[in-house]
Amino acid sequence: MDYLNYEFKVLIGGKLRGATDGGVMDIINPADNKVIAKVPRCTREDVDLAAKAAKAARQVWKNTYIGDRAGLLFKLANAIREHFDELVYMETAQYGGPLSKTRNFDIPAAIGEIEFMAGLGRSVTGETISADPMARVMTFREPVGVVGLITPWNFPLVTAVSKLAPALIMGNTCLLKPPSCAPLTVLKLAEYAADVGFPDGVVNILTGPGSDVGEAIVNHPDVNKVNFTGDSHVGKRIMGLASAYVKPVASELGGKNAMIILDDADVNAAVEGAVYAGFFNSGQNCGSPSRFFVQAGIYDKFVESFVSAARRITVGDPMDPKIMMGPLAYNACRDTAERFIEEAKKAGSKMLLGGSVPPELSGGAYVMPTIFEVYDGRQELMQEEVFAPVVGVMKVKTPEEAAELTNDCRYGLCASVWTRDYRMGLKLIDRLEVGTAWINQHLKIVPETPWGGCKESGWTKENSILVFNEYTYHKHIWIHLDEKPHTFWENQI
Ligand code: NDP
Repeated sequence: MDYLNYEFKVLIGGKLRGATDGGVMDIINPADNKVIAKVPRCTREDVDLAAKAAKAARQVWKNTYIGDRAGLLFKLANAIREHFDELVYMETAQYGGPLSKTRNFDIPAAIGEIEFMAGLGRSVTGETISADPMARVMTFREPVGVVGLITPWNFPLVTAVSKLAPALIMGNTCLLKPPSCAPLTVLKLAEYAADVGFPDGVVNILTGPGSDVGEAIVNHPDVNKVNFTGDSHVGKRIMGLASAYVKPVASELGGKNAMIILDDADVNAAVEGAVYAGFFNSGQNCGSPSRFFVQAGIYDKFVESFVSAARRITVGDPMDPKIMMGPLAYNACRDTAERFIEEAKKAGSKMLLGGSVPPELSGGAYVMPTIFEVYDGRQELMQEEVFAPVVGVMKVKTPEEAAELTNDCRYGLCASVWTRDYRMGLKLIDRLEVGTAWINQHLKIVPETPWGGCKESGWTKENSILVFNEYTYHKHIWIHLDEKPHTFWENQI
């Protein structure tokens, strides 16, 4: 499709339109750095219009029967299904995720996420509390109101609907801001939302720079809560801004995830898991392992097989169905990865795999799978998120040492332990400061299970029944059954 001749529009107050001042931004294909589309560059005035529309729609949407809210979400999922191929190619073109990923994961997962949330949300309940025999006491789940949803580029459509669907089914109205480098599929979602009949103002989708449009959403007094996924530094900035309004911020932030491989692990399984989870989507996954702590007895065998398996990853044009790894999302991501690689070399780490990209890929944001042998768990490569196919392996003597190294990091998103001894695996997991821990698996994330971290990875949950806590608050209601109210001034008034 020629996206340059297609007019992408934002959705504000039920209308598909351009930015108020007519501004647009270029969207660049990271495989060759060519401009592939132009999208509206919204202004603060657009945010204000959207927030006011969302506020005006609050009561109507909250009082819409939840089955009807679910019905509209199922129609939205169907619209994605009907445009499946178009969305697959669009997702690949805008951020370089290979077709094998966008076809088999991104678009099916977006459909699945919406349908799961639309169904599960209908079963969310409040509580009854036996606080007083002369009262009936209960809690109701109230929607938060207007929620600002700010999302990253590594899974553009899935991340957006993972927030939009639970927010909507719980009766919230939304302002959704996708990433500036990869907003196209979310702008298609805006078209479907307008088509399927959400009441005006319930779904608002705006594009524009985070530092401008994103901050205007955070700062808008009519936005009651922000739900953000992205970089930890940006998360801190958003929390700082929101604190001026005592506005809650749900945050899914970065990770520096460990994979611990113990002496008794099935080495083939561990290598398969390491290659897949470490390099899937060019390592641009918040949950990817980038620190590998390998026990001494299995170290040489694991490292040799890991390097040789990673060498077989095919890197190239993401539109080629045989390609396993495409470019990074844009040039700055490549430049960051290259800086990390140089720093790791300077820090004395040994490069076991990696190097310059072949000449035919030099026009894109490519980085080859890169593995370093590392001797110090405190060095930058083992502490900071690279968000690229660049990882470090380190030899450890004991499981306890691996756990200590895992925890010696400001992030706490996820980790995995590879062992045949499940008892040992569970004991080790007990010590890990992370939101998700797998045994003999890594990067398995499904809508049924909660996802989210601790420490500087953020404290929020996406997915599962727990996600609804992010989009509701508990209203406590007390119905007094006695004739007179209970007071401490009995019969004195
Ligand atoms: P960023 O934090 O750079 O951007 C995320 C979103 O925030 C974008 O829409 C961006 O807009 C917006 N934004 C940027 N600055 C501000 C601001 N000052 N105020 C409000 N909004 C702002 O993250 P990336 O897009 O680079 O995504 C990668 C990061 O996301 C990684 O750190 C990764 O670990 C994390 N992530 C975490 C997940 C989790 O579940 N824990 C899942 C997926 C990713 P714009 O694009 O215009 O800059």
